[in-house]
Amino acid sequence: MTRNRNSSNNIHKLYDLYLESERSRLIKHADAYLKAVMVFPNYYGVAMSNLGFLRAYELINESGFISCDRAFLQDDASKGIISIETRQRLASYDFIFFSLSYENDFPNILSILTAEKIPLLSKDRGKSFPLIMAGGVIAFLNPEPVAPIFDLMFIGEAEAIFPDFFKIVENKNKYEILETAAKIDGIYVPSAYNFIFDKKRPNVLNKIEHLSGFPKKIRRKCADKDSAFSSSVITTKFSELSNINMIEIERGCKRGCRFCSAGFIYLPLRESKSCNVFKAIESLSENDKAGFVGLGTMDSKNINKIMQFSLDSKKPFSLSSIRFDCLDENNLDLIKETGIKTVTLGIETGSSRLKKMINKDIGNDEITAVLKNIIKKGIVNIKLYFMFGLPYEEREDLDETINLIKTMRKEFVESSKINKRIGLLTASFGPFVPKAWTPLQWENFEDLTVLRRKADYLTDNLKRLPNLNVNINPLNAAFTEAFFARGSRISNEILIYSFMNKTGLKNAAADKGYDINDFIRKFGEDELLPWDIIDQGVTKKYLLEEYLRGVNFKTTPQCFEGCKRCGVCR
Ligand code: SF4
Repeated sequence: MTRNRNSSNNIHKLYDLYLESERSRLIKHADAYLKAVMVFPNYYGVAMSNLGFLRAYELINESGFISCDRAFLQDDASKGIISIETRQRLASYDFIFFSLSYENDFPNILSILTAEKIPLLSKDRGKSFPLIMAGGVIAFLNPEPVAPIFDLMFIGEAEAIFPDFFKIVENKNKYEILETAAKIDGIYVPSAYNFIFDKKRPNVLNKIEHLSGFPKKIRRKCADKDSAFSSSVITTKFSELSNINMIEIERGCKRGCRFCSAGFIYLPLRESKSCNVFKAIESLSENDKAGFVGLGTMDSKNINKIMQFSLDSKKPFSLSSIRFDCLDENNLDLIKETGIKTVTLGIETGSSRLKKMINKDIGNDEITAVLKNIIKKGIVNIKLYFMFGLPYEEREDLDETINLIKTMRKEFVESSKINKRIGLLTASFGPFVPKAWTPLQWENFEDLTVLRRKADYLTDNLKRLPNLNVNINPLNAAFTEAFFARGSRISNEILIYSFMNKTGLKNAAADKGYDINDFIRKFGEDELLPWDIIDQGVTKKYLLEEYLRGVNFKTTPQCFEGCKRCGVCR
């Protein structure tokens, strides 16, 4: 994976190079009279591999009356932040849209605004500043750690909210837009809400107050099954996915894995229509490859038809994530035929107890059998993803994971003989981060000292095995993610203090009179949570029931026809 940092001192030359490499199907309306810029708070290469960012950029331009450019994090921001298309400074636009996909990008939002001399908080910006908004998965998972920065936030999917939003922005000033926007489902005006915290208990929320005329909760809006579809409007070799045109196969997931936030906030599952996918495949340029994306692409009932169509059209494809229990002879043949050499499998844990706790209960024998089948098909490299630091994890659970990997490695080497070459088997471990809107949202993030010990235990037991690579994801980055993932408006104060004073989050929290551990703690089951400001569809009651089933090691079946249990399908 290449990181295309815009480290050049001459950002204009770099952006010229990027633009030359782009293939785009975007049509900008010449008579658009409002100017917007879509900002991704990370580098160009990361942004251009983000389908949500590209989709929002496309939809804004489709409005007809708003012309939208793109901007990114710049290494050299001494002359401000400029858009890639017109090289205008952000502060000169009517609207600035931020696309939020990763909690750890939050400090970059502050760098970008500071480079443009824009006050960091919405309340400190007068009418001369553009309307500054944010959307994207993180905005509607838990907006609170960044909410005071934005004038307005989109709670839900762009296809569903933008049409109503576009209707109210024509011929209105910033304040009129904010007032009218409050009446639209899926729009959150953070300044209209006051979060009152307990004076005696740190980071415990007592009450959420709202101004009259604003809704008590912001209802998430999601696209209906006909409009929930997207594919990359631009492809480039400088994207982290290099020349891959991402094509959405499905949105949402029916499996209910209890750690997965995307699995809950994108409910219900909406499969893309085959005709839309086929059209997107047919329109690929000769340099581009199709990248089928979705939370569980192999779950889609059309996936074999889609892969076959791609092969028949002579367009190679890749797959973003593979549910290994969906792999069979037929789809493995298609995957092999397109030339995929590496398959990535999210296994999470080898522990039979914890598999039930997270509701991903697939037996280790089945996992090993799938690995054997993959190798026998001639797909030589396998990447395995695991979590550690899961709630209730004991030494025995880690041992089960270690034993599973050892068995898989043995099978991997054995089965590879048929290919006359041994590829690469990689096991990556990431710490479990409790996320808002999941059944495990009440759990704590594991203590860093314990996590380090567990990481050492895993590497010590696995590192000397031949033909196996072991990676442990950085623990400090996971800690930062955990701090923000269930953060509040107090987290926002800490974020800004940390940025202004160039100090770490831990020190910033201490200087503000908090213990950082109060932000990664176990939350009370009856506690008011910062993200309770959102009506996500899935109810808190259902999540709590699921949580209790999880901690009692009980599994729950996936979505089924006629089911109404979680609150999303009414
Ligand atoms: S109500 Fe049932 S079918 Fe609908 S999203 Fe929730 S769990 Fe799935």
